[in-house]
Amino acid sequence: MALGVSRQIEDCTAWAHNHGTVVAEVYVDNDISAYSGKTRPQYRRMCEDIKQGFRDGLIVWHPDRLHRSPRELEDFIDLIEATGAEVQTITGGDYDLSTPHARILARILGAVARHESEDKSRRITRKAAELAFQGKRNGGGTRAYGYNADHTKPIAAEAAIVKEAAKRILSGDTLRSVCSDFNLRNVPTVKGGPWSPTVLRTLLMAARISGQREHHGEIVANGPWPAIITPSQTARLRAILGDPDRRTNRTPRSYPLTGLVRCERCGEKMVARPRDDGSRRYVCAKAPGYPGCGKTFILAEPLEQMITEAILYRLDSDALAKAIVGQVSEDAATENIEEDLQSDRLQLDELAQMYGHKEMTAREWTAAKAPIQQRIATNERRLNAFTGTSALEGYVGNAKALRGQWDSIDPPRQRAIISALLNSITVGPGVRGRNKFDPSRIKPDWKV
Ligand SMILES: [Zn+2]
Repeated sequence: MALGVSRQIEDCTAWAHNHGTVVAEVYVDNDISAYSGKTRPQYRRMCEDIKQGFRDGLIVWHPDRLHRSPRELEDFIDLIEATGAEVQTITGGDYDLSTPHARILARILGAVARHESEDKSRRITRKAAELAFQGKRNGGGTRAYGYNADHTKPIAAEAAIVKEAAKRILSGDTLRSVCSDFNLRNVPTVKGGPWSPTVLRTLLMAARISGQREHHGEIVANGPWPAIITPSQTARLRAILGDPDRRTNRTPRSYPLTGLVRCERCGEKMVARPRDDGSRRYVCAKAPGYPGCGKTFILAEPLEQMITEAILYRLDSDALAKAIVGQVSEDAATENIEEDLQSDRLQLDELAQMYGHKEMTAREWTAAKAPIQQRIATNERRLNAFTGTSALEGYVGNAKALRGQWDSIDPPRQRAIISALLNSITVGPGVRGRNKFDPSRIKPDWKV
């Protein structure tokens, strides 16, 4: 426990240093918890020094270092009131005992904090945070997938699986379908069992696979181990997999054109809405939360067939191959965002190191990183918005391969391919009484 105490002293001394306060004396009851019931000679001596006016304030790591009983807290309040000494806590914020309200708060906090286990877990957390800032890996536990036991080298076969999974999720595949594919291929997990969406999601969200260290889900430093995927891939994976709309257990959408189909009459997005007999339709819905005109309907089956045919046709055309080569501009834009992300992450690393080296306080650190984190979040969203052309990889000029596979491709992946090529599909009004599918109602807006 001596290590824990020295760390607390470090924190307190750093605070004093940063606030121009002179530390006259350090009082330590090493190894004696405030709740152990043992007498704490240093604590008593400190109270006596305050009482005698030798000390005009005290810095404590957490208020629960001070009192072990309501009785002791009351004595302490009396002491602070009588002497006007100031109390500063490092982890508990301002510890103001000067008003009745603040004293009630202190009493409640005291009651809440009276658990040694909580106290322990906070110290462990503190240790983990310290390791994180130094870019070290938290020890213990199972081997991390993709790396050897001491986490210094990637394992080639596992690294290939990590890369494949990352690429597939980034091009619109689902966790579920990647998992079932891995299980079909008998790819073992780190424990040898089958893949589940939860296991895969945890793996792909982990900062370590791009050589980074995280703490409480936030990327805080670069780790000393080699990366398997790039930091910008991790940023995009986190943006996609962290999206609450995307649930691992959700059934794949059976309407691959959802979000792309628009009503020509009112311009609103048409939504998936089957008819009572079960036939699938896209409709312009007019209902609470649906701002459409309620007048346009189209059967999903022939619409999707037509769009698929059009996509396959375009994939085989020279014009498209040229257009995709010409998409360098989008890729360049992505690159700029990636560069910005990279430099912001570096800056966060530097701040974390400064904080780790006590060159700034926790409060200063929090304030300094807020705008950077905001920028990172915005850029992650922008990057995520680029569907890019990666979904089309291998299919340009090779529509035959895609035609053969199309029906067995998951709707989300179909959708990734479609939205790599199409901005939207506008559906014109139908002719009353005419049930035959009318292709002239459909106006696709191609991206390339
Ligand atoms: Zn409409």
